[in-house]
Amino acid sequence: MLRRVRVGLLAAVYASRLSRLIGASGWRQNRLLILCYHGISDSDLHQWNPSMFMHAEQFRRRLKFLRDAKCHVLGLGEALTRLENGTLPPRSVVLTFDDGFADFHRLTWPMLREFGCPATLYLTTYYMLRNVPVFDPALDYLLWRGRNKQLDWPEIVAQPVSLDPAGRELMRKVLQIHTWKLRLSAAEKNDLLENLATRLGFDYDAFRQSRVLSLINEDEVRQLAAAGADIQLHTHRHRNPAHQSGFSREIVDNRDCMAALGLHPEHFGYPNGVRGTRDPQWLRELGIKSAAACHAGLVTPDSDFHSLPRVVDCFPFGETEFQAWVYGSAAMLPRRGKTKLREQVPDEAAEELLSVPPAINR
Ligand SMILES: [Zn+2]
Repeated sequence: MLRRVRVGLLAAVYASRLSRLIGASGWRQNRLLILCYHGISDSDLHQWNPSMFMHAEQFRRRLKFLRDAKCHVLGLGEALTRLENGTLPPRSVVLTFDDGFADFHRLTWPMLREFGCPATLYLTTYYMLRNVPVFDPALDYLLWRGRNKQLDWPEIVAQPVSLDPAGRELMRKVLQIHTWKLRLSAAEKNDLLENLATRLGFDYDAFRQSRVLSLINEDEVRQLAAAGADIQLHTHRHRNPAHQSGFSREIVDNRDCMAALGLHPEHFGYPNGVRGTRDPQWLRELGIKSAAACHAGLVTPDSDFHSLPRVVDCFPFGETEFQAWVYGSAAMLPRRGKTKLREQVPDEAAEELLSVPPAINR
């Protein structure tokens, strides 16, 4: 209900000349819109997880609107420097992509090139080094593909499970706990996915070769960087531990993997948009220049550069809402949703923490 009221308000604001006037104002010119995407899909991924994957045609319409509205799509580093210097051009926008799914190389980057848009890719590196699908999303996707089938797996669950929404959620949890309890490696988790796919009647080799839900590999990272893509940090294993030693290790491992490819990243995107209150300080100590979160808003010269607001643009996000953000009028409306904060844990508790499963174990 609240969302419908808000979308109605947005529609009213956008339909008015006021929204375009805001877009042309000095107020908007002193602000930066950072957009966040995960994956672009030309298969069924946007139907499986519409908050994570956007259909390629919808993304093309976004790029076309940015061009038609005479937005200035800037690289992240240049945009932040010009924000500080007060020299941003009208309607400045930065495009960012999280995680580094293989579609970025195959599908998204060519489209960005076609429209002449620079982009930042916040890349996790653990799965970049392993040519297998990322376990958590691949598990969820395969269960979704098998929706309404019956899963019979006596070694894992005593009774066959019907893969309706509740059954899929149950199996997802059971299999995640199974991997954690047995401390399965990435290769063993891949075997588990293959076993699941086979039980559901899918050709796992074809799935794996399609690179769906795999990350870009080292060669592709090199190619993208050589072509001008801005590759930045997103932690090594897609998690940001609540204690400084673990947090720093994630950044250092991520940075070392990129250094081996000749890259020298200095910007960071929080995995899942979640951060602790002391993360910005830890990032400064590591020499990181900026960190993007996922609370909606425009960046101003007064923003904390280590907790930058970002608007997550996804499939359910209508054209109206997107355009209102581009013009800046959406930032003037009251909104819910702040940065998701997590508790900090002192280093002494780190060992204990490491003995519990991470929320997202990519
Ligand atoms: Zn991510």
